[in-house]
Amino acid sequence: MSRILIVEDEPKLAALEADYLKAEGYDTHCIGDGSEVVAWVRGNAPDLILLDLMLPGRDGLDICRELRAATDPRIRDVPIIMVTARVEEMDRLIGLDLGADDYVCKPFSVRELVARVRAILRRGRAPASGLVLDEQARAAQLDGRELDLTPVEFRLLGTLAAAPGRVFSRSKLLERLYEDHRVVGDRTVDAHIKNLRRKLEAVRPGEELVRSIYGLGYKLEL
Ligand code: CA
Repeated sequence: MSRILIVEDEPKLAALEADYLKAEGYDTHCIGDGSEVVAWVRGNAPDLILLDLMLPGRDGLDICRELRAATDPRIRDVPIIMVTARVEEMDRLIGLDLGADDYVCKPFSVRELVARVRAILRRGRAPASGLVLDEQARAAQLDGRELDLTPVEFRLLGTLAAAPGRVFSRSKLLERLYEDHRVVGDRTVDAHIKNLRRKLEAVRPGEELVRSIYGLGYKLEL
């Protein structure tokens, strides 16, 4: 049974999330004080964390940073869904590249949250992604088929594939786009993503492997 840690200082919301997750067959544990989170995670190694940003004791940003810096891979790689109270905050969070796996903004539908939890946990158990990147040859294969990518598309895919499921902001992707760091607009990223998607979709019809998140960034789902 997957165990989910709910870090939330609004008791009603924590109880609601726990109810829905239990109904889906997950084991849950709730913590309302940020200062208790890291020690509990180290002792219990949950399968996923719902992490509220604003907490008494210690904020979610700080907690996320410490977990991602841990040496134990069970702690370092634990999936994290960051919960924020303001839409404007999401842009900043994604820009910080904290390594959260997903972001939701309050008020959210608990049903939708549970669906995201399920998607992330399913991904963790999925077999090899089928994507092979050869940095030296600048060659990419998906499901054994060669992808004919431009150098920019290859770099974009490489960046996204370094952390599947994580959201990369446009500005972060822009930084990696050109080796000469030339100045281009955000729309340039969108244009390259569009071409990359088309090439991926030729191998996996009907699948959206590169997902856009609230128009703020992109993530690769394999
Ligand atoms: Ca809070």
